[in-house]
Amino acid sequence: MKKNNKVFLILSLIAISFILLIPSYLSKANNNSPTTSNKDEVEKFTLKPLPYKYNALEPYIDKKTMQIHHTKHQQAYVDNLNKALAKYPELYKKTAEELISNTNALPLDIKQAVINNAGGVSNHEFFWTVMSPEHNQKPHGNLLRAINDTFGCFDKFKEEFSSKALSNFGSGWTWLVKDSNNKLSIMNTANQDSPISLSYTPILGIDVWEHAYYLKYQNRRAEY
Ligand code: MN
Repeated sequence: MKKNNKVFLILSLIAISFILLIPSYLSKANNNSPTTSNKDEVEKFTLKPLPYKYNALEPYIDKKTMQIHHTKHQQAYVDNLNKALAKYPELYKKTAEELISNTNALPLDIKQAVINNAGGVSNHEFFWTVMSPEHNQKPHGNLLRAINDTFGCFDKFKEEFSSKALSNFGSGWTWLVKDSNNKLSIMNTANQDSPISLSYTPILGIDVWEHAYYLKYQNRRAEY
């Protein structure tokens, strides 16, 4: 056999063995993935659906912003929370709110990751529920009375809330909260920090991270 023919034969054999091996590799890969994801002992955090369609808040918040915010940003908080808890699977049993309500009880090596990502999960799940496609809804009853008592009137509250949100430097949230004595106040938090960690109950919250408005409003936070 000539040298060239020999080389050709060897190359062909290598190629054939690859072709024969590929299907068995693929079927192995397919067999492996469902077993690992189905046999989780604990229920991990999942992305909860929005309470309305992605375009429901238009023209104020556009569909694309809502889609990215929910399926990319909120999903990332869910995934990173699951990752952080992997070493402490008993913590999967807690809700995001339970995890952030006593941050000093968290294992030190995952404390900040849980504050960031359980905060991210809780804040966003809450945020979607305080917005509604029904326009111009106003608080009523006890809440309106408490707002009037604390801020003078509803318009005055809106003014104070907006200016607090505009003064929130960088990425964070602005909140209307109540304390354990049902006293209302407006506060800013940084990053994904939640008022729940400070023993407040959120009543209203606005996400002032740029990802919440940048596609439509760019630098115009006030308009958002
Ligand atoms: Mn956000």
